Amino acid sequence: MTQTIAYVNGQFLPLAQAQVSVLDRGFLFADAVYEVIPVYAGRCYRLQAHIERLQRSLAGIRLHTERTAQDWSELIEALVARNGGGDIAVYLQVTRGAEARREHTLPAQPTPGIVAFCQSRVPVAPTVLEQGLAAVTMPDSRWRYCAIKSTALLANVLAADEARKAGAAEALLVRDGNIIEGTSSNVFAVLDGCLTTPAECDAMLSGITRAAILELAARHDIAHAQTTALSTAALAQAQEIWISSSTREIYPITQLDGAPVADGRPGPHWARMFALLQADTGN
Ligand code: PMP
Repeated sequence: MTQTIAYVNGQFLPLAQAQVSVLDRGFLFADAVYEVIPVYAGRCYRLQAHIERLQRSLAGIRLHTERTAQDWSELIEALVARNGGGDIAVYLQVTRGAEARREHTLPAQPTPGIVAFCQSRVPVAPTVLEQGLAAVTMPDSRWRYCAIKSTALLANVLAADEARKAGAAEALLVRDGNIIEGTSSNVFAVLDGCLTTPAECDAMLSGITRAAILELAARHDIAHAQTTALSTAALAQAQEIWISSSTREIYPITQLDGAPVADGRPGPHWARMFALLQADTGN
């Protein structure tokens, strides 16, 4: 990639020179929301859906900005262009800005802090596609409003670390006996031939990749369902398990809590959806 250029509060500048105030509420309180938009050969994938989710997240934390969807889109496209396009991901964060003092109280008229930068997108390793990954289930210790894409990710980060220490690539988070999502991914299971995923709720992030998968399933007559109750018991009997996210696309999970998922190999439903998603991203 050419030199990484960041955007900070109205200015484009090299990432190494990008700075924000220590009084920024994003830094002090995680009073901020974010988006990660994958870019394929310089083209943002499902940009409008990401912007709509950003606007829902901003409304969810009661942070008003003057920016329209068009403004967000122009900012993101400009940053991609300045970074030379390619296969990258844009990280965009909007905070409630910096005030003169650290106060919990929401400022009446905040000036939002806007930061964006690009990272290279690591292509999926062939071994992951051939062998799949391990996941472990874990209690969901996060707050109740995970549909808001907030930067308050400490619970996610610690759960992911626990998973890593258990030799797994992702922790699947369980609330009231049901799978909600991964620490940074949505979850799909093939149950009796039906592609099943937890239904949207306040406790789950509505993934853009998840939506793409459901749209592709509908378009290609693949049996699919959304459920409010994907129990850990049902997951343990699944024919296939996948995780999805903008940066990882769809990964097959072939081991759950130390036991193989079905025959312990990536399954045919995953292979088909992986190919459909590759075609959809233009990859
Ligand atoms: N859930 C969580 C908690 C996430 O962090 C992510 C990744 N941002 C996802 C789901 C997947 O969302 P998307 O497909 O939009 O990347």
